[in-house]
Amino acid sequence: MFESIRRRLTLGYIGIFALILVVLGAVAVASFARQAASQQDELLEQKARGTSDYVRGPLLNDYQTGRDTGGPPHRGKNGEPIGPFQAATDSDIGVIALVPSDGAGADSTILDSSPSSSSFGLPFEGPAQRAAQEGQTIAETVDGPEGEMLRVVSVPVTGRGGYEAVIQSAQPRRVVWEAVGDLVLILIPVGLGGLLLAGAGGLYMSRRAMEPVRESFQRQRTFIADASHELKTPLALLRINAEVMKRNPTDPENEEIVEDQLSEIDRMDTLLSDLLILARLDAGRLDVENKPFDLATVAADTAGRFLKRAFEEGVRLEVKVPDELPVRGDPGRTGQILAALLDNAVRYTPNGGSVTVSGRFLDERAEVSVEDTGPGIPPKHLPRIFDRFYRVEEARTRKGGGTGLGLSIARDLARAQRGELIAGSSKGGANFTLRLPKNEG
Ligand code: ADP
Repeated sequence: MFESIRRRLTLGYIGIFALILVVLGAVAVASFARQAASQQDELLEQKARGTSDYVRGPLLNDYQTGRDTGGPPHRGKNGEPIGPFQAATDSDIGVIALVPSDGAGADSTILDSSPSSSSFGLPFEGPAQRAAQEGQTIAETVDGPEGEMLRVVSVPVTGRGGYEAVIQSAQPRRVVWEAVGDLVLILIPVGLGGLLLAGAGGLYMSRRAMEPVRESFQRQRTFIADASHELKTPLALLRINAEVMKRNPTDPENEEIVEDQLSEIDRMDTLLSDLLILARLDAGRLDVENKPFDLATVAADTAGRFLKRAFEEGVRLEVKVPDELPVRGDPGRTGQILAALLDNAVRYTPNGGSVTVSGRFLDERAEVSVEDTGPGIPPKHLPRIFDRFYRVEEARTRKGGGTGLGLSIARDLARAQRGELIAGSSKGGANFTLRLPKNEG
């Protein structure tokens, strides 16, 4: 069961992590693609502007001069006549000369354009017209001659006599997608590696997270098994007794058997009440007050109730509490805790021994201790003394103790009041200390 929960936890963890990676990856790729595209535009514009001086100056001037003189419109750097715009460009630059239209919406008149020596099919008239009309650089994606998507940047420049030219530079859009593809190729193995690490981490974390659950489940299982066992014993005795009485209904010894049965029923009743308290404590459904009260009074009153029994058992019971020990908590539950401690102390202390109830302040807390001169609790049993149904064997056989739940209920009741119950062994006897928060008000 735990394995499958663990597997599901890990898978869920990996799933969430994968989703986060995919979202982050998509955002990273999208913003990279946008940046790469705008960088491509910038690059193309820079390239086009690189020839703008030449186009604006000599080229458009020549055009004008050519018109003025009726001679060849274009001349090379040494004044020799050359073909239209030949001098203007390298193969990735296109130039179109035009006269801008006056009328709104009408196209400019194209006068000349550089030969389409570019493998990209430059120049493109449509974008050039639009750039001339808007009077500003525009970037567009167009279909190239080989069916490839091209990014074309058109930069308008103005020369003498109202002539205008649009310089175009182009590059396949594929360049951007290739850069994006390279990024994705890096991100995929990194992401997969991250997922592998997340899986290993998830398995480790889920094992750690499941450990307390597994332990508490195991404790609960043991508790149920112990409780069933504790209830089965008195039930078996009741059954045997009932069978004996059935066989000899008129036997005068039956009265003794009935006495026996009544005490077994009482024992079961006590056990069931203890189990009920524990179940309520576990579920956090036991009413526990949190109000100011005097711990000294509760300790003295509870000890008072044990005076007679202690006297009968030959145990001296001493109470050494200060006049006042103001604390916060539940006086009734505190009385219950001290009664459980005193019950044990008187029960396990042999004739002639003594039990001392003392109280004092301790920093933010007040405490009451119940010490006895009995057999004490051997150190190896101390860590488990508050476990449910835990009994120290010798002490139990000596006088046949109670349900084995008294101390664990007492400890849980102390915790429910934000206090604590500590067990120790001193001078050969046992000592238990209940600490509760001091009432500052
Ligand atoms: P029980 O009902 O058996 O007394 P508790 O939870 O009250 O159950 O105590 C658990 C065990 O702790 C007892 O069985 C006993 O072995 C040991 N114990 C508790 N108090 C004392 C004490 N004052 N002196 C010696 N042993 C004690």
